[in-house]
Amino acid sequence: MKKFSLIFLGCPKNQVDCEKIVYSLLKEGYFITTNLKEAEIVILTTCAFIKQGVKECENWLKKLIALKKKGVIKKIILYGCLVEREREGLIEKYPEVDCFVGLGGLNKIPLLIKKKENYYLPKNKQVLIKNLPRIITEPFSYVKIADGCNNCCSYCLIPKIRGKYQSREIKEIKEEVKELVDLGIKEIILIAQDTTLYGIDIYQKPSLAKLLKELIKIKNLKWLRILYTHPAHYDDELIRIIKDEEKIVKYLDIPIQHASNRILKLMNRPYTQKDLIKLLEKLRKIPNLVLRTTVMVGFPYEEEKDFLELLSFIKDFKFEYLGCFIYSREENTFAYNLEKQIKENIKKERYQKIMETQQKITFNFLNSLKGKIFLTLMENKNLGRAYFQAPEIDGYVIFNKKDIKIGEFANCKILERKGYDLVGKIIEK
Ligand code: SF4
Repeated sequence: MKKFSLIFLGCPKNQVDCEKIVYSLLKEGYFITTNLKEAEIVILTTCAFIKQGVKECENWLKKLIALKKKGVIKKIILYGCLVEREREGLIEKYPEVDCFVGLGGLNKIPLLIKKKENYYLPKNKQVLIKNLPRIITEPFSYVKIADGCNNCCSYCLIPKIRGKYQSREIKEIKEEVKELVDLGIKEIILIAQDTTLYGIDIYQKPSLAKLLKELIKIKNLKWLRILYTHPAHYDDELIRIIKDEEKIVKYLDIPIQHASNRILKLMNRPYTQKDLIKLLEKLRKIPNLVLRTTVMVGFPYEEEKDFLELLSFIKDFKFEYLGCFIYSREENTFAYNLEKQIKENIKKERYQKIMETQQKITFNFLNSLKGKIFLTLMENKNLGRAYFQAPEIDGYVIFNKKDIKIGEFANCKILERKGYDLVGKIIEK
């Protein structure tokens, strides 16, 4: 009985790939174990868009190589973005690894193991493989509608790692969503590097609105959530359908990255602060809309006045949730060669100021929910999420009731805030 373990590192797009890898191995008669010491084969799925991600992968690799040297595990398979980023260089660096699999090899792993192949690194980055079944582990499910990216933000390696923008066809996505809903999944989360650019390659224009119109026809689909949108790729039709369609969760993830026009230009983000304000004011007309954003501090040439412009923008605009990245200087990006790099201590100070400011805004938002009642999706024995909470990033509603049916909805009254979480009481199922 061949047992394998899979270590998942990275983003929800990688999570979907992992669910497909696990399915392909279970189908070939392998057994999954979470105990590394029981596993004959270990698959490490990797993230490599910033150095920190690479470091985390390398730490895991060292652990696995040590286990292999002790004879505890037999095979190490390395999959994903790190393999794409470093390619042949990685093979020389880690001879103990049995197989290096690029993103295009998602469905080839069982075969590569059988054939004792050392690597699978196709030149053409076909990162989207059609109709690959997957295992489902949560009462919600990420659905990748596209992969790769054409936006070429000056600090980002993803276009080099995951290739050009590739959309899946509406028909294929709708079939997958219908299957998931038939399996009892209540919340579908649409993901891509840029979901608002969906269809640009196969329908010659952004077609997220067209896709949404098809998906909301699916009976029993309860929540349709959209993550990773781009401020430059919204249009009025998309905003109208998000506003009018009940199944579309009134929650949007819209990374702005910065608010200083000078820095936005250097980042190659094709919008100005004025454009942002115009878009965000339009979105704020959607009743009860909750917005999450991501910003970056310490970008080359970011002067104190640019930073203060960003700080006052998030104070004024009050995103309910905000994540902040410290700029990471990545080789092979345009920004890497920008002369005026910012000192690490200044980057950290700016990061701290942004997070302190945002914490007050988010806590005020969460405090304002006290006494209100929300439909809540039960995620495990005493945790659930309301519409304003995306999984794994926005906190949970905590219950003191044990007999909760996972994957079901219940109406829940918010009693109080507890850090970034809320304490709730179920009032009816
Ligand atoms: S939109 Fe920009 S930051 Fe996001 S994946 Fe594409 S290039 Fe990278």
